[in-house]
Amino acid sequence: MRFNGDRIVPDHDNCVACQRCAMKCPQGAITIKENEMAFPAHSAYTERIRRIGWEQASTGGVMLSSCGNDLPYRSIFDDLVLDAAQVTNPAIDPLREPIETRCFLGARPDRLDFTETEDEILLDTEMSPGVMLRTPIMIGQMSLGSISYNAQIALFRAAMETGTLVGTGEGGLHSDFYEYGSIINSEVASGRFGINPPYLKKVASLEIKIGQGAKPGHGGHLPGEKTTEMISQTRMIPKGTDALSPYPHHDIYSIEDLQQLIYALKESTRYRVPVGVKVAAVHNVAAIASGMVRAGADFITIDGFRGGTGAAPRIIRDHAGIPLELAIAAVDQRLREEGIRHRATLCAGGSIRYSADLVKALALGADVAMICTPVLIAMGCRVCQQCHRGLCSWGIATQNPTYTQRLDIDVAARRVSNLLYAWNEELREICGAMGIDSVESFVGNRDRLRYLGPNPRIAEILGVKHAGEAWG
Ligand code: SF4
Repeated sequence: MRFNGDRIVPDHDNCVACQRCAMKCPQGAITIKENEMAFPAHSAYTERIRRIGWEQASTGGVMLSSCGNDLPYRSIFDDLVLDAAQVTNPAIDPLREPIETRCFLGARPDRLDFTETEDEILLDTEMSPGVMLRTPIMIGQMSLGSISYNAQIALFRAAMETGTLVGTGEGGLHSDFYEYGSIINSEVASGRFGINPPYLKKVASLEIKIGQGAKPGHGGHLPGEKTTEMISQTRMIPKGTDALSPYPHHDIYSIEDLQQLIYALKESTRYRVPVGVKVAAVHNVAAIASGMVRAGADFITIDGFRGGTGAAPRIIRDHAGIPLELAIAAVDQRLREEGIRHRATLCAGGSIRYSADLVKALALGADVAMICTPVLIAMGCRVCQQCHRGLCSWGIATQNPTYTQRLDIDVAARRVSNLLYAWNEELREICGAMGIDSVESFVGNRDRLRYLGPNPRIAEILGVKHAGEAWG
């Protein structure tokens, strides 16, 4: 909508289907209807493909998009069903009995050694640094730049309240946010934006980003429209320029190179925080994950191909990578077979949409879920897939003050906290129904899943039986 000097009129060229006009109209007078005449039906040349053709014909460039891949690939999570306790394995009532959902981010030792004295038992094993999470849900990597100042501070406050970590994305950390260091999982990506010694001293964990599920093999991209004065200072780049990170880390071409960066970060933080590595879910992800763990990563993050992004070439977002479900199972299985599963926490993100996906991701083998789009939705996101334009009318994925002021920090923080509490409660419910009293016992427990989809080969890769097959 725009004001033409006389009245408010629709501005069709700028409409991104954010639906804010309909949502906010005080009279409820606006409805949005599909115009069937605009795109006559065609099963091959769909509206999507025609739009791509028109846009490329007018720009001559790579098409950008945002959010996650929305092509109708089958969701494997939706083809999985959960077990429940009956008679021989009693259920646990989460209202009356404790069910532990705390977990730790960090490596576990190969064995524990103790010295026993008359009065006490002392642990001799030197433990790796770890972070205790009150829930196996972390908020993933979204940079200041891709999202607004108000959105980022709301996420930090929600994480403080719920006892989890938030990723900073590739944008560094604004000095206003140093007070939230104890809940910050800082990203070290190929552009190294914003990484400096004072910042490294503040954070709770560090995550080297090699790849992202929404754009495997591609670097980060913050369009110049979003590089405001504040963003330029935080990232240490000129105002108004596109922040394009290199596709690879130019100092990493092998597992040994990765090991050097892991240990450089451990040294620079004096071994105070766990250091992890994130990769996109790709065809040989299990072998790569094994190398990451052997290189010394305290946690590894696998990001699936429906993962979100602030800006990515559409062709990569929609066509590169593999589903998260298959990647989790393949990585968990490989690390178990090699006897190194305990050496790193396995985090999984990119297509975990709601608590049912969280539960199934844990049962497939993830220790912790990383979520982004669900927390944006909690703050008001309509999933219009226009984050890359910098004009988010809900004040989330924008730096434009007209829009950013629309996001009430207190309300947004409250809603994100509520979402995390709700997921955690539903996780406790499902653990109780299965007779499991600790999330740790649930992780990788694939015998409590059954497959109901059309392709038995998928069930085989997941290591999950078909529905109707018994335990054992
Ligand atoms: S964050 Fe804003 S621009 Fe991005 S998808 Fe959500 S509503 Fe649209």
